[in-house]
Amino acid sequence: MVIDTNLISMLHNIGAIILTSRQQTEEQGNLHKQGIRKENKQRGNRINYRIFYRELEKIYGNTGWWPAETRDEIVIGTILTQNTSWKNVEKSIDQLKSLGKCNLAAISSLPVEKLSQAIRSSGFYNQKAKRLHELSKKIVSEFGGLDKMAFLSDSELIDFFSSMTGVGQETLDSIMLYVFDKPHFVVDKYTLRISMRIGIESVPTLESVKSHVIAEIGNDVETLKNFHGALVYLAKDYCRKTPLCKECPVRKSCDYGMTHVTEP
Ligand code: SF4
Repeated sequence: MVIDTNLISMLHNIGAIILTSRQQTEEQGNLHKQGIRKENKQRGNRINYRIFYRELEKIYGNTGWWPAETRDEIVIGTILTQNTSWKNVEKSIDQLKSLGKCNLAAISSLPVEKLSQAIRSSGFYNQKAKRLHELSKKIVSEFGGLDKMAFLSDSELIDFFSSMTGVGQETLDSIMLYVFDKPHFVVDKYTLRISMRIGIESVPTLESVKSHVIAEIGNDVETLKNFHGALVYLAKDYCRKTPLCKECPVRKSCDYGMTHVTEP
């Protein structure tokens, strides 16, 4: 067989051109990422919660979070949302509404078995029904309702709610912020995931995120409410377990997004 040396040389040159252009594209991508980081640093713009909140506010505006018609509904939602998606909680809330039982007084006089059937879609319904029933009963019997509790001091509210089974830190902060308008920040698993990926904190914890958020964005209650709502939407829309970085509107501020997506 006769080997055409010209052909071999031509193929060799084409291969070299393809490799060079691929290397150039990768280099351009890396330069682009470095450029953005350098630009951020030069402007003293290393991402923090204040800058990040402003970006999210531009995207989501006023989120109106917590989505509920009454304060009772918020308390009910904080118990039902544990370990399940908000979609499932909405179904249970709708079911309670259709029964005319979406308030703490009605729940406190409902048999636990009936309550657990009504909130079935939220998962762990027997456990949640028991906890929600106990909490409702205690609020109604000791205060007559949430309105009267609004006169309690912060520490009295914290003592009351944290003494209840099923009220952990996230639930407590949600109640303090959204029911009683107290400057608490709600840190959930979405917040921790996003904080780490964005690169604001390498090992975010509930306490570290709470204190950094308050220090960087202040204790304005409406801002704290809206920030949490925007993080929920970002987690639902883009920053899922498997993130959709290519479409994500905050990718250029995100360490993970800039490291894992190659195109500029
Ligand atoms: S770019 Fe990716 S990792 Fe970063 S916030 Fe968006 S979806 Fe999450």
